[in-house]
Amino acid sequence: MGKWAIAVHGGAGVDPNLPLHRQDEAKQLLARCLHLGINALRSNLPAVDVVELVVRELETDPLFNSGRGSALSENGTVEMEASIMNGPNRQYGAVSGLTTVKNPVSLARLVMDKSPHSYLAFSGAQDFARQQGVELMQNEYFITEDNVEMLKLAKEANAILFDYRIPTIGSETCAAEADNPITMNGLPISVYAPETVGCVVVDQEGQCAAATSTGGLMNKKTGRIGDSPIIGAGTYACKVCAVSCTGEGEAILRGTLARDVAAVMEYKGLALQEAVDFVIKERLDEGKAGLIAVSEKGEVAYGFNANGMFRGCASEDGFMEVGIWE
Ligand code: ASP
Repeated sequence: MGKWAIAVHGGAGVDPNLPLHRQDEAKQLLARCLHLGINALRSNLPAVDVVELVVRELETDPLFNSGRGSALSENGTVEMEASIMNGPNRQYGAVSGLTTVKNPVSLARLVMDKSPHSYLAFSGAQDFARQQGVELMQNEYFITEDNVEMLKLAKEANAILFDYRIPTIGSETCAAEADNPITMNGLPISVYAPETVGCVVVDQEGQCAAATSTGGLMNKKTGRIGDSPIIGAGTYACKVCAVSCTGEGEAILRGTLARDVAAVMEYKGLALQEAVDFVIKERLDEGKAGLIAVSEKGEVAYGFNANGMFRGCASEDGFMEVGIWE
């Protein structure tokens, strides 16, 4: 029997001034999801089922940017995307451009299990959702008041945001933008709210799986696809490890971050944390993103070069951590 491990994230790039009660809410949700996953692992649920279960929970809560609470496109609509990958056979399913699917990660799972393809998008993905009978909601269900406000600010600032921002008093800005701060009415704009979610798991059989789900970027162009549904970029799982990324999708895609963590383990023989550190240092533009990872040996690791990352980790030998900052 191997050792299980699990990690969850709720996005990289966090406002240093995020009010404490909002930090606590995020940490509570991450802890709840971690426990949900741990209990499932203790009941011997396979890794791929556990990542789906946990990401569903995160999508259903409006706090993070996935499912309900998704970031809004330039037109004020949601276009959600998600992916799931099962390490042992490297099967995956991915979806983009969803407007009414309550739990995009479960549709990605159905694409993997029940379709002849691996990746469906926009109207074809919506048709598949209807055929499969997954739960659909009115578009309004996904749109939160916070996000409507945020879109207004993003439009005024003429910015597409991977981390949500509001104007801050004073000069403190996200480290990611320190050299080139986005300003609005002369004020620096600071990161505000949590983002994309993901979960990686290795179960007691040593099987790895990963899932990622997102609304994408606030004020994104309609039709924009980020890293989260792209295998090898935002999500990857194979025999040796599972990885889920968060941050600016364009940078994550450029760095093929998730696959590179697995590649340096496979080809350079690096241990999990070494692989994570190597890829973040060598492949990722400064200040852009972060990731969580587990290995078949039951190790758990994370890394980021953005300002903070909402995350939680636990492993069978009793380690547990929920945190936001370095
Ligand atoms: N990576 C996501 C995207 O670019 C955003 C995020 O992680 O917050 O769509």
